[in-house]
Amino acid sequence: MNNKSGITHLIRKEAKRLGFSEIGISKAVRLTDEEKRLKKWLDKGYHASMDYMENHFDKRVDPSKLVPGAKSVISLLYNYYTEKKQYDKNTLKVSKYAYGRDYHKVIKKKLNSLLKFIKEKTGDINGRAFVDSAPVLEKAWAAKSGLGWIGKNTLLINKYMGSYIFLSELIIDLELIYDEPVSSHCGNCTRCIDACPTEAISKSGYELDSTKCISYLTIENKGDIPVIFQNKMANYIFGCDICQDVCPWNRFAGEHSESDFAPKEEFLNMKKEDWFNISEEKFKILFYGTPVVRAKYKGLKRNIKFVKSSKKDQFD
Ligand code: SF4
Ligand code: SF4
Repeated sequence: MNNKSGITHLIRKEAKRLGFSEIGISKAVRLTDEEKRLKKWLDKGYHASMDYMENHFDKRVDPSKLVPGAKSVISLLYNYYTEKKQYDKNTLKVSKYAYGRDYHKVIKKKLNSLLKFIKEKTGDINGRAFVDSAPVLEKAWAAKSGLGWIGKNTLLINKYMGSYIFLSELIIDLELIYDEPVSSHCGNCTRCIDACPTEAISKSGYELDSTKCISYLTIENKGDIPVIFQNKMANYIFGCDICQDVCPWNRFAGEHSESDFAPKEEFLNMKKEDWFNISEEKFKILFYGTPVVRAKYKGLKRNIKFVKSSKKDQFD
């Protein structure tokens, strides 16, 4: 099949069949506005120790450097919102995205199926699948393809699903029908800026200083957590959901239907004492195959110790 609108329609249909929540398609051009913004952000050192953000700069802003002759970027959303919560409200907290099986594994399989489907329908095309695994400006592409806007908390917000969504992409050398961006709906709201306990979001929003963000401090950061963040972690020991929890657009988020993302009861049941006493063996049993292993036992213990050393009133 070589009819542009016909194949675009088939790809959309197949993406939904595979379980993706939404799909948006953009023309694969150099992201010139994002290029300026990224340079400014890197110059400020807001990427902290994430050197990979600096590397392959050209690949980040130019999809043809990733797939020669790239014509289209297909952005896909995968809902991970759940009403499930850790039962004890005073326990140490893990970000929702890490409750279940590692999303990279779940989504990559589906992306490869979609790529295979496109190849079967169109013949010999070139393409690559990305899920948080290569220098792709995922939020910028999703916004460009009308899947939402980048909010003041710097996350992609979809009008109907909110922001508890994983992003992934296919870059292919086939022309498709493209979507238009949507306008921002943050308006005068400043809830995420006001709620962030470490003031990681700039005063006017849309810029995040990773060196202050609990997500960075508890996951990517390999050193000690700076003492200035003591009493500011809001009991988070892996990631942080505060700037999403307060966002009014997440009122519309619906429960995901991915059984792989279901949390273990034993994890939901953990009280702060269970975290304080967690052994390496228990860590492996509880978190094998989940994003939490990224921090490794040593990193999680560091985070637990740091939060434990905070003032008592954080727990009560
Ligand atoms: S994830 Fe937490 S620490 Fe990071 S910007 Fe959001 S509220 Fe602030
Ligand atoms: S909390 Fe308000 S300002 Fe922040 S991202 Fe959501 S709508 Fe935008």
